[in-house]
Amino acid sequence: VYVLGIETSCDETAAAVVKNGREVLSNVVASQMESHRRFGGVVPEIASRHHVEQITLVIEEAMQQAGVSFASLDAVAVTAGPGLVGALLVGVNAAKALAFAHGLPLIGVHHIAGHIYANQLVAEMKFPLLALVVSGGHTELVFMKEHGNFAVIGETRDDAAGEAYDKVARALGLPYPGGPHIDRLAHEGEPVIDLPRAWLEEGSYDFSFSGLKSAVLNALHNAKQRGEEIDPRQMAASFQASVVDVLVTKTVQAAKEYRVRQVLLAGGVAANRGLRAALQDKMKELPDVELVIPPLSLCTDNAAMIAVAGTVLYQQGKRADLALNANPSLPLV
Ligand code: ATP
Ligand code: MG
Ligand code: FE
Repeated sequence: VYVLGIETSCDETAAAVVKNGREVLSNVVASQMESHRRFGGVVPEIASRHHVEQITLVIEEAMQQAGVSFASLDAVAVTAGPGLVGALLVGVNAAKALAFAHGLPLIGVHHIAGHIYANQLVAEMKFPLLALVVSGGHTELVFMKEHGNFAVIGETRDDAAGEAYDKVARALGLPYPGGPHIDRLAHEGEPVIDLPRAWLEEGSYDFSFSGLKSAVLNALHNAKQRGEEIDPRQMAASFQASVVDVLVTKTVQAAKEYRVRQVLLAGGVAANRGLRAALQDKMKELPDVELVIPPLSLCTDNAAMIAVAGTVLYQQGKRADLALNANPSLPLV
């Protein structure tokens, strides 16, 4: 089964061809990061325009690198949501045009299902499983008892983890997106600044990062007023320690309670070195549970993950029709 995946939900124009949901034949990502950097975040209008410019080239490149023709594809899978509506529309319309022109089945994919399914390129999924999804717009613990069955057992009540990283990075004067910069600085510093950890109610798998973010901003502000300097490496290390501590503790707790066979890490923040190391370490408490962590290139937005999730839907007989529309707030469940 050969599936072409297309992803344009945010600021990367991406296309990929995946064989049998396991083998990446091509994975092309055109990032617009440079265009958004001077604005300190993604500007939706600019994102849409870049997607329009890039989409045909990126798809052609993915097909060429994979060495397959449209005639030998089995389906076209595309991110239908959530994301920026104008950005999503570019991918959805490209996918519809290709499906129509080549008589191929069209599959609509949820972006977060894609992030989760990136793990299937590393190891076969074993159910029941738990996925920790940490990205620019999402922070959730997703329980899956079988393919395509998603139950959100915990989610952020305010900021997403990636959002908190990017806001704290901005306060530290680091360029957008700040996550990787905080990660780098955190490794050069020590977590000596006392910052809060939002555990919430006993037994809750929800998250909250806005209090932590405010604590960082206040500490920086107060230090400045007193004419003192806070070492950004220490602040980055302390912030990261707080985020990682809560994420890892709740994930392992949930893995125990739900008696899962596998724990998956997903989303852009899964690229975080501190998080990867801490989760690996804490999972030693559950020697019978397999931990799967995707390589960095499959953590941040890409189309291979959309092709993989699309392959599963294709094999389940799920099809979209040409009425498929972009849905900026598409629900996972
Ligand atoms: P969503 O997937 O929720 O729709 P998105 O697609 O914009 O949001 P991703 O591309 O999955 O988000 O992830 C981007 C986020 O990951 C950014 O917030 C970025 O700062 C963060 N990120 C990337 N690398 C790292 C890292 N090494 N450490 C921490 N955060 C990181
Ligand atoms: Mg992005
Ligand atoms: Fe994403």
